[in-house]
Amino acid sequence: MSLSDVVSNLRAPLTTRVADKPTVRVHSVEWRKIMAGEPVEINPSVGHGYRVMSVDEWSARWKQNEAFPECLQCGSKNTKEHHFTQTWCRGKKKWESECLCRDCHSFSFRSYCDPDFKTPEDFEKERWQALAKGEAAKPVPVS
Ligand SMILES: [Zn+2]
Repeated sequence: MSLSDVVSNLRAPLTTRVADKPTVRVHSVEWRKIMAGEPVEINPSVGHGYRVMSVDEWSARWKQNEAFPECLQCGSKNTKEHHFTQTWCRGKKKWESECLCRDCHSFSFRSYCDPDFKTPEDFEKERWQALAKGEAAKPVPVS
């Protein structure tokens, strides 16, 4: 699925919020260190060990979300997405995205869920509940 498939044909409003730190826990810990000027772990594909990094350096490897480039706080398009997850189930989708603004250092969080989205677990639960109901409705065999 391409990004445009994911973010087009939305049938419900997006949930958005702005935060001064990331929602994703691992990045939240790193963000606190970046802000405090403490060393953070270097991306394993670049090297190893720890280093004090600027916000720009820390976020250099992230990409902008082309569908949602604007910062929800200041409107800047100098943003980088550090978190994106999507779930598809039987043609229904939900996703969430979080972008860091490199100008005002806010985190813009957006999430979307189709109105009738159900997870595979939900489908499974309903199937079992229907089965259980069917069992209960059966006449008890007389021995
Ligand atoms: Zn901003």
